[in-house]
Amino acid sequence: MTKKILVLPGDGIGPEIIAEARKVLDKVNAQFDLGLEFEQGLMGGCSIDACGVPLSDETLARAAAADAILLGAVGGPKWDKLDRAIRPEKGLLKMRSSLQLFANLRPAIMYPQLADASSLKPEIVSGLDILIVRELTGGIYFGEPRGIRTLENGEREGFNTYKYSESEIERIGRNAFEMAMKRNKRLCSVDKANVLEATVLWREVMDRLAPEYPEVSLSHMYVDNAAMQLVKAPKQFDVMVTGNMFGDILSDAAAMLTGSIGMLPSASLDKNRRGMYEPCHGSAPDIAGLGVANPLATILSVSMMLRYSLNKPAAADAIELAVSKVLDQGLRTGDIMSAGMKQVGTVEMGDAVVAAL
Ligand code: NAD
Repeated sequence: MTKKILVLPGDGIGPEIIAEARKVLDKVNAQFDLGLEFEQGLMGGCSIDACGVPLSDETLARAAAADAILLGAVGGPKWDKLDRAIRPEKGLLKMRSSLQLFANLRPAIMYPQLADASSLKPEIVSGLDILIVRELTGGIYFGEPRGIRTLENGEREGFNTYKYSESEIERIGRNAFEMAMKRNKRLCSVDKANVLEATVLWREVMDRLAPEYPEVSLSHMYVDNAAMQLVKAPKQFDVMVTGNMFGDILSDAAAMLTGSIGMLPSASLDKNRRGMYEPCHGSAPDIAGLGVANPLATILSVSMMLRYSLNKPAAADAIELAVSKVLDQGLRTGDIMSAGMKQVGTVEMGDAVVAAL
């Protein structure tokens, strides 16, 4: 049966890294007889230029009809002065909320070949393999009411609403337990239950789900401690699950444990595991067009897509192995370069992964 992939290269380095990811996809498509079909569309600044909005209804409809979406990155200085309502990032938020992509999976894996790229000591990060499951369509980023209002005394006040319904917590909780079942069966739920009622409920729902997954050991941690533990002893974690805002912050911190943002993939899934796959980094306008961007985060996002949405674990494993082989060969883009290694550009890195497949 054919599977349809909507490819959205986006802005900045997006088209460059997506071109390499497509080469890898084409190769595994043939090698493993995956029956993938591709369509291309616009999202972000390029869509604003072409049709005045960061995500058109037509592209959204194509995304809704696809089996998976592969995104490069959106945004850049050209569109920074636009009204907030039509900025490139709005396209991303609209896509996530319209398709109910509520589960954001962000692995932070330390490749042994890149141990000296981290700012932490190698013994603290070598062998690191954490999966952060972040709730993506609720919490304080979406809660109403919100705004900036003027009080009776003339002073202005900014306000947001942090809320989670039981069903929202339950669906992200189940997702995290299931991910933990596929890994080392340890799940740490991160909250601020000593201060925020919304997270008291969060903790209660996680505890209620736990007996359904008896093999998974569930622990709870306050977010301030979790931030500290991530830089102190990150290898204690297997899967972490948390709300939108805490997940936003913790996943970036976890990402940097591994040294380069150019290596980190991500997935955003709906309840049927259909999803959007993208590198964690942005459109890197400072290096766009120079042919030096690291395409590996996008290539590893393709591997997540094959694993989670398309159920093709053998092809996913093959891509991850090929990336590891290329690192063993000493090939490095500028962001992960170290002494004694061979510096390559975006296209050479993509070609090397294809050759290693
Ligand atoms: P960024 O991730 O684009 O860049 C941060 C730094 O990392 C830059 O020095 C960049 O050159 C480097 N970098 C990023 N990806 C790289 C790669 N693959 N290879 C080598 N180096 C890489 O973050 P930023 O500079 O804060 O944001 C730039 C633009 O991207 C902004 O418009 C922002 O809104 C947007 N953005 C988009 C997304 C997304 O599309 N999901 C995410 C974050 C930021």
